[in-house]
Amino acid sequence: MLLRHTTKEVKERKALTINPAKTCQPIGAMYASLGLHGCLPHSHGSQGCCSYHRSTLTRHYKEPVMAGTSSFTEGASVFGGQSNLLQAFNNMFSIYDPDIIAVHTTCLSETIGDDVSQITQKAIADGKIPEGKHVINASTPSYVGSHVTGFANMCAAIARYFPEKQEFALDQVNILPGWVEPSDMREIKRMMSEMHVPFVMFPDTSGVMDAPQTGFHEFYPKGGTSIPDLKRSGSSSFTFALGKFSSESAGIELKKKCDVPFEVMDIPLGINSTDRFLMKVSEVTGCPVPESLADERGRVVDIITDMQQYLYGKRVALYGDPDILIPLTEFLVGLDMKPVYIVSGTPGKYFTDRMNEILGDSVPEAKVKNGPQADMFLMHQWIKEESVDLIMGNTYGKYIARDEDIPFVRMGFPILDRVGHSYFPMTGYAGAMRILEKMLNAIMDKIDREAPEEKFELVM
Ligand code: SF4
Repeated sequence: MLLRHTTKEVKERKALTINPAKTCQPIGAMYASLGLHGCLPHSHGSQGCCSYHRSTLTRHYKEPVMAGTSSFTEGASVFGGQSNLLQAFNNMFSIYDPDIIAVHTTCLSETIGDDVSQITQKAIADGKIPEGKHVINASTPSYVGSHVTGFANMCAAIARYFPEKQEFALDQVNILPGWVEPSDMREIKRMMSEMHVPFVMFPDTSGVMDAPQTGFHEFYPKGGTSIPDLKRSGSSSFTFALGKFSSESAGIELKKKCDVPFEVMDIPLGINSTDRFLMKVSEVTGCPVPESLADERGRVVDIITDMQQYLYGKRVALYGDPDILIPLTEFLVGLDMKPVYIVSGTPGKYFTDRMNEILGDSVPEAKVKNGPQADMFLMHQWIKEESVDLIMGNTYGKYIARDEDIPFVRMGFPILDRVGHSYFPMTGYAGAMRILEKMLNAIMDKIDREAPEEKFELVM
């Protein structure tokens, strides 16, 4: 009963957030940077911030996360961090030899007002950036937005810096995958290969955050989008920006810089959004959806048909990132489940608009909230008012699930106490099968656990 003090009565809060359904902006910026090959992320702030960003990513991915820090102390906090950052460029290029340094700011450097673009220009003018090396930067103050905002800001910085427009458009498309797991990026790439679609994906953390154990430490694992691919993305014929919150700004930057048309789409998670994504890819590229993908879809439908009785009408509480929650909610509504409570710490009116559209008449009782006070405390209060059959979200939900004895499916970021998310996708039809399996197992485990002996069945 770790959360036994959570009260049932909901009182309006204006300034207080309790157990936020989000984390800090630079974590997202660091994750996006790790999706570039040979990139060393750099946190312009105190060592404590950098340790937190690194350790959260390491705990979620079970991989070492290399990053630099400007190591602010009292002096930098008062006079600004320019000399620390210039020194950091020197040290990092001479000791760790990255191809790219991706600098993101922190609460402290933003409050001081450090201008990282100006400091970078000074570093270039002073000859501190070696020939052929690159420095990009994103502004990521953590007192606004969330880790998703930080991810989007770094993706936009990548799109502003690398793409180059060639004279002729290349026969390829860009895929901005949004904040998904390396396994999901791998799955989206696999679907594109099945369709024979030439593409550039960025960022791409597969092969970095799920790197194989070889017995040798690779400071820069072989995955990540290469610099030539990033440059070529400016000559692609189209950009698929998956997830409005995490990819739209990068799509806009690519359009501005290289005039590549783009469309913002939902992350392909569940049946409907995967259908829409594949059909749009087929329409834009002229590559048909192959039978192999149609068969995968058929297998998802088969599972749903076989197990519908365990899903129908189940009340679900969801929390996490908007780009995942939108297609997930659509998937659950399509399964005749009832996502009744949905919270996300990431602000943006688009979220509630889309949710209202999806939930519509199917789940009129649903409560949806996002932004600073849309926290897990509020979700727990709603659950205390009227309980649910399933909770889905990151690791932090385990306290509520245990206190209230509710089946729990881990999904989203961060997952600190289980493995699998980096290796097995939630996207595409294969991902839909995995979501179904996890939900059904959680629900049926509870049925088994609570069944009286005479009703404890071998075949369910
Ligand atoms: S001070 Fe700001 S940037 Fe640093 S860890 Fe905390 S929230 Fe993140």
